[in-house]
Amino acid sequence: TYTPTLDHQLLQRLRGAVRGDIVEPGDADYDQARRVYNAMHDKRPALVVRAVDAGDVIATVGFARDQGLPLAVRGGSHSVPGYGTCEGGVVLDLGTMRGIRVDPGARRARVEGGCTWADVNHAAHAFGLATTGGIVSTTGVGGLTTGGGMGHLARRYGLACDNLASVDLVTADGSFLTCTEEHHSDLLWAVRGGGGNFGVVTSFEYRLHPVATILGGPTFYPLDGDVIRRYRELVAEADERLGAVFVVGLGPPVPFLPERWHGRPLCGVVACWTGREDEDDRVRDRLAALGPVIGRHLERMPYPVVNTLFDDLVPAGLFHYWKGSFTQGLPDGAIEALVEYGTTTPSIQSVTVVFPVDGACHRVGARDTAFSYRDADFSIALSPTLTTRADCEAAKDWVRAFHRALAPHSMEGGYVNFMDGDDQDRVRANYRDNYTRLRALKRHYDPGNLFRLNHNIAP
Ligand code: FAD
Repeated sequence: TYTPTLDHQLLQRLRGAVRGDIVEPGDADYDQARRVYNAMHDKRPALVVRAVDAGDVIATVGFARDQGLPLAVRGGSHSVPGYGTCEGGVVLDLGTMRGIRVDPGARRARVEGGCTWADVNHAAHAFGLATTGGIVSTTGVGGLTTGGGMGHLARRYGLACDNLASVDLVTADGSFLTCTEEHHSDLLWAVRGGGGNFGVVTSFEYRLHPVATILGGPTFYPLDGDVIRRYRELVAEADERLGAVFVVGLGPPVPFLPERWHGRPLCGVVACWTGREDEDDRVRDRLAALGPVIGRHLERMPYPVVNTLFDDLVPAGLFHYWKGSFTQGLPDGAIEALVEYGTTTPSIQSVTVVFPVDGACHRVGARDTAFSYRDADFSIALSPTLTTRADCEAAKDWVRAFHRALAPHSMEGGYVNFMDGDDQDRVRANYRDNYTRLRALKRHYDPGNLFRLNHNIAP
């Protein structure tokens, strides 16, 4: 354990400058404050600052920089590599910055940097609006958007980062910059996929779309290559109003799935049809044609609800170790790997998720945002999630072998938000042709690499 000596005077100055709580070892809520979503990361920071506004963020960034301490910026805390915490350094916890202002006329929302997708979906839904977010509502907007951001609305409305109109950003030197297409557009470009490398986003401004009630939920089938091949055809021909995330795993103990399927390998489509209600039956029939339906819960529901369907399966405190791949089309070899490794999925929580990233995602140029995979059709999250550390350690071999089996059928690099901590050597490959520009920006805005607890673009 690394225990730094904090400069007493600087710490006093920080206390004077910050309005939020500062939690230290020995404080009653220290154990709760240091904890992150992925229980694999059991670290002991010197301080956790619960920021309440941009002023707190500026003060904390300056403190960590001047003390030469590691700085972990925490949004929704879902980082699988545990970048929301650190050993002996400063955690800047944005989880207390959750304000949202929706402008229904302009169809925009101003969202503070510590919000989760549950916060955004709720606030926007009151006005019949929504934007692309993650498929689990407890995930933070911060990490998800700055890494790219895939979800049910991506085929129709693009990635979360594609819907970003502007950000307020605190950079390493403590500057507060509002980054738009007109001002500091280089930084807006960089945070659309470049992760937390360039500073702390204190607020995101998203474009919203008229999405209120949708036809959503899972349709399950036995795990079979033919079902996946038919799913591939479905995505290739279905119009963009159909969100169709594919899942492979073990049958969850839900009432609409017969008990004999609980814990057995299966696959399914989690649909999010944003088109007209009088076309719902056509969508249901199309999904039923993928294979023998063994259970389904495909109903009209408010858009926020489809983003909570996985929430109970993956509460905070489980043990995760992930990998990710992009594919062009869904090659037969990738389908074989999905079936082979799906059959040996290590737990009910370990859902392999295939996200379509076509449609509107393809209408953005590879150089237009730091996220460059505009030629990928699917992003696959291999996400072993276990209830004990020992089981998670054991599952690492499964996911590494699964990832190796997908590799010949995948693109080079992968989605930073599905990478784990031992994937740092893939960062250059993950950013492909945008890496050189990102590195130049990093050198300019963060030459000392203060923001390094992320998929790091080293200056
Ligand atoms: P944190 O751990 O708080 O942060 C992650 C990284 O982002 C850190 O490096 C942090 O410094 C940086 N960061 C966070 N907030 C800010 C900010 N305001 N300003 C600057 N940097 C910031 N990804 C998808 O694309 N689609 C999904 O549907 C999806 N589902 C997921 C479901 C689960 C259960 C989990 C665990 C992950 C999922 N992911 C998904 C991956 C997710 O995008 C990443 O884990 C992401 O990093 C989470 O962001 P966070 O803010 O919750 O995490």
